[in-house]
Amino acid sequence: MSITYHPAEDVQSLVREVIERLSLAHIDPNRVFCFRSRGSRSRRGIARCYSLSKIWQKALSIPSYYIVEVISERYDALSEENKVKVIIHELLHIPKAFGGGLRPHIGCVTRRVVEENYCRFIASKNNTDQ
Ligand SMILES: [Zn+2]
Repeated sequence: MSITYHPAEDVQSLVREVIERLSLAHIDPNRVFCFRSRGSRSRRGIARCYSLSKIWQKALSIPSYYIVEVISERYDALSEENKVKVIIHELLHIPKAFGGGLRPHIGCVTRRVVEENYCRFIASKNNTDQ
């Protein structure tokens, strides 16, 4: 079975919500595409973040774009809390410059930073729900 990709509206709106609640002003939500993949049984992981490298931007005369892919077989079964954490994790890979690179796990995208941001997300949610 080959892998298929589908635009993921639910992920797109969660990405927007996370960007807004965490005030991730360096991320342009209009330049983050979200896809759900299926049929990727052999691959590990729940989600992935892709960048468009500088040389491709130059060749195509377009600005930077990012893609968040969630792997349906693993992501869809998660609780809402864990889905938010996965999206926070992927968005943390996007560097402040939004220039086409990706930040590494070590020192940047760690469990601790994800947890801190999740606390801020919940605090923001509780504020607006009142
Ligand atoms: Zn990661």
